Amino acid sequence: MIKPAIKELISKTLDYTGISSRKIHGMLNRYPNWLVLMYHRIVTDRKQYDPFSLGMCVEANVFDMQLRYLKKHFTVLPVSEVMRKITQHEPLPPNVVSITFDDGYKDNLLNAAPILQQHQVNASVYIATNILYGEVFWWDRVIQIFAESQCADFEIEIESTTYHVRRDRSGVEWLLAYLWQLNSEIKEQIINQLLAGKNIVKDLSLLYLNEQELQQITQYNFEVGAHTCSHPNLSLMKQSDIESELIGSKQTLERILQTEINGFAYPGGYIGDQTIDVIKKLNFEYALTTITGVNSFEQNPYLIKRMGMPDSSLSDFKRCLSNVLGSREH
Ligand SMILES: [Zn+2]
Repeated sequence: MIKPAIKELISKTLDYTGISSRKIHGMLNRYPNWLVLMYHRIVTDRKQYDPFSLGMCVEANVFDMQLRYLKKHFTVLPVSEVMRKITQHEPLPPNVVSITFDDGYKDNLLNAAPILQQHQVNASVYIATNILYGEVFWWDRVIQIFAESQCADFEIEIESTTYHVRRDRSGVEWLLAYLWQLNSEIKEQIINQLLAGKNIVKDLSLLYLNEQELQQITQYNFEVGAHTCSHPNLSLMKQSDIESELIGSKQTLERILQTEINGFAYPGGYIGDQTIDVIKKLNFEYALTTITGVNSFEQNPYLIKRMGMPDSSLSDFKRCLSNVLGSREH
């Protein structure tokens, strides 16, 4: 694994010499591309909101810079419009990019929406609807416990095995990946073990949009899609539970926004064998994955690839972009 400082140096060098830009332009001209960018949070201070550098937060000034670059080199269109054009066999501009946000953080309204509006750019946001009513995402609870605890490590017992998890970036990353594979009851038990005896009080439900704010965000340049109710790992669930999660979030959003909801994003990127059938049955028109890559216009609409956006310099962003576009060559 290359250290971030070295990566940044490589990015800067490639950018300074113009290699990144030439590579990107060369690749953009070669194929019809549709790039879908994936963001979660736009924050004012990344160190405060992402204390373990897990990559879910992009600083507002970096987001502004990224949009400036995208507007110059791409045509920014909302996902639904690209899908409509593809379905109706309408021509698309050569380099299309769509901007997406997952989950439903309040900073999408407070920080992202004004910047998007300033650049006159549209975006889509995919909401796990339980957060509109006070539910807190389990990973935010874990990160909060890690950030606010004083201990060097945590002792967790899972199925008679005791694990020592370090209270640092690698520890929290390991635990989050582990918890993704568990059902919600076991996950809850483990989070309670982490919490035991600790005074963690800050109310995290304020991090997310509520009903009124969701309505407000659509008055900016946002369209809304579903992202289930409770943000589970769908690959662990039986078909009837997948259906409840999808119907629940679709109906809640349709009731609040008084419009049909046709787009979906798979929570955590977990798809499973049955989810696509459920999505088709419920008449969703498209679904976004977390698989990294660039889409062609013949793309399977239920397996749309995306690019997770880094919070880093423009040169590093160009290097990532060039890598993703380059993946088309193989
Ligand atoms: Zn999500």
